[in-house]
Amino acid sequence: MIELSVQRRGLMLVLSSPSGAGKTTISRAILRAEDDLAMSVSVTTRAPRPGEEEARDYYFVSEDEYHRMVAAKELLEHAKVFDNYYGTPRAHVERELAAGRDVMFDIDWQGTQQLKASARGDLVSVFILPPSIKELERRLRGRAQDTEEVMRRRMARASDEMSHWPEYDYVVVNQNVDESIEQVKSILTAERLRRDRQVGLVSFVNGMRGEN
Ligand code: 5GP
Repeated sequence: MIELSVQRRGLMLVLSSPSGAGKTTISRAILRAEDDLAMSVSVTTRAPRPGEEEARDYYFVSEDEYHRMVAAKELLEHAKVFDNYYGTPRAHVERELAAGRDVMFDIDWQGTQQLKASARGDLVSVFILPPSIKELERRLRGRAQDTEEVMRRRMARASDEMSHWPEYDYVVVNQNVDESIEQVKSILTAERLRRDRQVGLVSFVNGMRGEN
């Protein structure tokens, strides 16, 4: 028997949220559960937080290196968030998509808008909201890694970030992390099944109908 399978175009799954909404937990769980999904690891000029690892959480680079990468067009999108620069290395993403794998991004609304402009058809964007502002503050305090001043600015920034939810395809309110993980997985499953992403459908169906 000849095995027929449908060729699929890779998609770009963007997760955005204010920090503290649980996005990292959600993205890690999805990455563990999904085979054909790679994480895009960003570059940043900020210092590593305790527990963060080079090449897993970020590539930590100097401002000079960051500006060099921007000038050399090595970043797919880039933005200043808080006081630091962030960007998505282009080569890894293009390699994964070309290999038919999907790529997940943890980037802010500025980066999402840039990706939307350059790759609208391949982009699926999800905004994750915290269940309440009180809970967001509690989670940010729980980290206890930032000074009071940074905390205050993060909360102000969170409210700013949250105003961008209407620019996203999907919105998940992270009331329960396991439920949110399942919800994002469902989004991924449904988006993978979109007819226009299954580029091999014509030959697949023709093959079954013996018209090849
Ligand atoms: P943090 O410093 O807390 O890890 O991240 C701060 C913000 O920067 C988060 O909203 C995160 O999504 C965003 N961010 C991380 N990497 C990138 C990136 O490569 N591009 C853009 N535009 N934002 C990013």
